[in-house]
Amino acid sequence: MNISTSQALFEKAQHFIPGGVNSPVRAFRAVGGSPVFIKSAKGPYVYDEDDNEYIELINSWGPMILGHGHELIQKAVSDAIQHSFSFGAPTRREVEIAELITTMVPSIEKVRMVNSGTEATMSAIRVARGFTGRDKIIKFEGCYHGHGDSFLIAAGSGAVTFGTPDSPGVTKGVANDTLTAPYNDLDAVQKLVDANKGHIAALILEPVVGNMGCVLPAEGFLEGLRKICDEEGIVFIFDEVMTGFRLSKGGAQERFGIKPDLTTLGKIIGGGMPVGAYGGKAEIMNWVSPLGPVYQAGTLSGNPIAMAAGLTMLNYLNEHPEVYTQLELSGHKLVNGFTNSIKKLGLNYTINSIGSMYTLFFTDQAVTDFPSAKSSNLPLFGKYFHAMLDRGIYMGPSQFESMFLSTALEDGHIERIIEANEESLKEVI
Ligand code: PLP
Repeated sequence: MNISTSQALFEKAQHFIPGGVNSPVRAFRAVGGSPVFIKSAKGPYVYDEDDNEYIELINSWGPMILGHGHELIQKAVSDAIQHSFSFGAPTRREVEIAELITTMVPSIEKVRMVNSGTEATMSAIRVARGFTGRDKIIKFEGCYHGHGDSFLIAAGSGAVTFGTPDSPGVTKGVANDTLTAPYNDLDAVQKLVDANKGHIAALILEPVVGNMGCVLPAEGFLEGLRKICDEEGIVFIFDEVMTGFRLSKGGAQERFGIKPDLTTLGKIIGGGMPVGAYGGKAEIMNWVSPLGPVYQAGTLSGNPIAMAAGLTMLNYLNEHPEVYTQLELSGHKLVNGFTNSIKKLGLNYTINSIGSMYTLFFTDQAVTDFPSAKSSNLPLFGKYFHAMLDRGIYMGPSQFESMFLSTALEDGHIERIIEANEESLKEVI
């Protein structure tokens, strides 16, 4: 495959941008080789600068749940642009999207729009601290909540991919206020809570993890956390930046029937534009400025173009429940195909999946937490990644990522992915 234009761009990019990219995982460091530079995308395909076509499994890390360039969203954005790009003032669509979010996500009574998932999680723990008057938070090893200082402790996603789960630059004071527990380990959480009674403001987690690869909550885990938080007056936060509007219309919380106190959102909520949000119980959200004393603001928050894209996306998902039926079916077909190939090849690798999220882990262990995810054969994953790319499948370039399906994938695409997977496995093992 000729990727010479991408290679030349990457070469040049490294002179002007740290590592040549504006977000680390894009540099392909974990898998080796040069990243492909994307020129355009439509439906289930992305096209690189050398005009190679790939079937999409990244989908902008989740937002493009309807595939690329969906005509309704495109129209909403081009209509909105006619009225200028930013006002820094309240607009009608902000009210409409807030109302819609509260109907789609049952635990959210009030919501504040921000510009990214990182802003959403940073703001959510600030309001939880203000509300409780406590400093410490609990997060889980391998969960990623964006690049806010408090979260770069035992972080997943790009942070673990690049060997920096605990980032330099985070002060000891901040790090001391972040307690970590192994995912799916209720006893460890209980012990942390007992040892820090009255000091824990919030417990935040990905209710289904995407950022150590796809890892599901064990039976009773989310219920157990809810109980501990209730007993100790801890604000229970679901980070649904990935799972929100993906695992169901109301996210993981609807799927698992658990109500958190606060929820953070991103990705799909902006329809591909830079948007995040945090929301939840009114009694907590009322602490946010200007109603309450917890300060949080944003020049571009609620940007009219981003709101037009997000509102159109959410309205579509709200009115088309068949989206979720299709995503479930696609997920099943793909995972069944992968499972058959793995068996046929006499392998014992683990595939974790739920709905339209999945990860094939290059390990024989069940992957339920960070250590088991890290037991994967990373060099082998790198070879597999490139074998898939050569066959026109565009995957997340790290073992510690979930793949995301879109409704633009038809049966023929799923079959091509399954075939490419089997051929790639044969090539690399
Ligand atoms: N939370 C989760 C669960 C995420 O997956 C991410 C990003 O991937 C974030 C927060 C941070 O979002 P953003 O990259 O928009 O800052």
